[in-house]
Amino acid sequence: MLFAISCGKKALYVAFSGGLVLAVTLATVTWWSVESLRKDTLTRINFAQHHIDTIISNARAVANVTRNLAGMPCTGNTLSQLRHDVIRTPNVRAIDLVRQGRIYCTSLYGATDEPDRLSLPSARNNLQLLPGNTATPHLSVLVYRTTRPKGTLLISIDGYFVAETLFAIRTLPLVYFQVGNTLMSKSGQILTPAQLPAGKREFITSPDWSYRLVIVTPTGILFGNIVHNYRKSVLVCLLLALAASLLCYRILTRPLTPVEQLQNALARHEFVPYIQPIVDITTHRIKGGEILIRWKHPEAGLIPPDQFIPLAETSGLIVPMTRQLFADTGRFFQAHTARLPAGFHLGFNISKSHLADRHLMEDCQNILAELLPCRAELVLELLERDTAECTAEMKTAFSKLKQEGIKFALDDFGTGYSTHACLQNFSTDYIKIDKSFIQMAGVDDISRHIVDNVIALAESLNINIIAEGVETASQEAYLQGRNVKYLQGYRYGRPVSLDQFIKNHLSGGDGPFFTGSPALAYQAEQ
Ligand code: C2E
Ligand code: CA
Ligand code: CA
Repeated sequence: MLFAISCGKKALYVAFSGGLVLAVTLATVTWWSVESLRKDTLTRINFAQHHIDTIISNARAVANVTRNLAGMPCTGNTLSQLRHDVIRTPNVRAIDLVRQGRIYCTSLYGATDEPDRLSLPSARNNLQLLPGNTATPHLSVLVYRTTRPKGTLLISIDGYFVAETLFAIRTLPLVYFQVGNTLMSKSGQILTPAQLPAGKREFITSPDWSYRLVIVTPTGILFGNIVHNYRKSVLVCLLLALAASLLCYRILTRPLTPVEQLQNALARHEFVPYIQPIVDITTHRIKGGEILIRWKHPEAGLIPPDQFIPLAETSGLIVPMTRQLFADTGRFFQAHTARLPAGFHLGFNISKSHLADRHLMEDCQNILAELLPCRAELVLELLERDTAECTAEMKTAFSKLKQEGIKFALDDFGTGYSTHACLQNFSTDYIKIDKSFIQMAGVDDISRHIVDNVIALAESLNINIIAEGVETASQEAYLQGRNVKYLQGYRYGRPVSLDQFIKNHLSGGDGPFFTGSPALAYQAEQ
């Protein structure tokens, strides 16, 4: 069911639908960009790792070749072999020989005597990263160390090659080469772990060598990546959000179908009971009234039943609509029972489809209980043409209601397919002669004959007659002349609100009364 929504709520729904679409699509784009970046970075890092492994493997290969020189005196032969091996090995800058904790021979200067400050605490860790060495104090060095029974070999790899590898892979996140507690950036700068920039950190540890690559992704980089590489996608997200908002707006502001309008009005309680008096012309007193529905439309004003009852019947809304009328009427008159005449006649128009509704009995019982003090007479008015079918279901419902003391009237009598069978089946309490006959009775012989015949038929079956649409004194005189007792029409009062009905007809000083004053005739519906 679609109910009318306030402007504020509409704006909220429109904003929410757009916001939701924007959030979902942006989250998708973000996830996609993060995943793509991650895959791309990993591919590039794998390449770098492979390259660095090759550099270190070269150092190990030269260490193997020169392993015989470990512990050997630093002679010309030793030196020339060391220098020869350095020259023919890529990326290696120098080879040093160490004995008893001192470097005694280096391919760079020949014989020397320096402490081996690089001596490692763990023999397993055969790599070490330094900001520089004695020869090149400002150029980072990666040292590969191998220890032989007679001495140790130190193979120095130029840090430039490792840094250049990191630089060459051009990853968006920052990548660092780490050995122990020392790190090197792609520009060759040496850092401690505390100096790393803030951001998400990931580590790729080499399976073969004691180093790892550290990937640092600052949050800003991700955002920058989206703005830079996914500009079009972000634009599409914004357009989708706009489209969602527009769609939501169109749905909320589209004109309601007639059935939806009825549903709306029902939910807002816009259908109200009006009542038209039925008078006893022999006593000039109010006998009761017929409840006639009105739609109090907030913009169009009072809408008559002809304009919405047919749709309410075909859409099934007639049942909840009539139930609302029963409840409202019962509640109202319960508070005014003291003013109602004994045996107050209260007529409701019931559609054929409503007869089978399981709540009808309960609603009738409720209203009878509410009006118990005045022993009201509840009359269900059925259109004559509706009763022509006389289905078994209708007969059952009909007889159950009759057993409860509920009365029936055949409405618009003379316009439908009246049959004697129907009249007998339903043992109708009243027939209501349609206003078209009453109004023609004074001017047209055929109508007068029909009315005369209807009256005769009703008398023979001992059924009460209510004449509808009595407007003039001559119509009244004609009906009185034929002993029609109960009259309804503008002459005695138009349909009015329940409140107005009490004021107009039941507020006399000496109890229930009908004035018959011409002042009441032809007054507009109030
Ligand atoms: P109806 O049951 O025949 O009701 C009498 C109609 O005649 C009412 O029209 C009433 O205002 C009008 N009327 C009464 N006296 C005069 C008169 O002297 N002159 C003229 N010209 N008209 C008079 P209203 O209220 O517009 O109702 C039209 C029809 O709508 C009703 O005819 C009834 O069939 C249907 N209706 C009204 N309320 C309900 C309801 O609650 N449920 C259902 N199912 N139908 C309803
Ligand atoms: Ca009626
Ligand atoms: Ca009627």
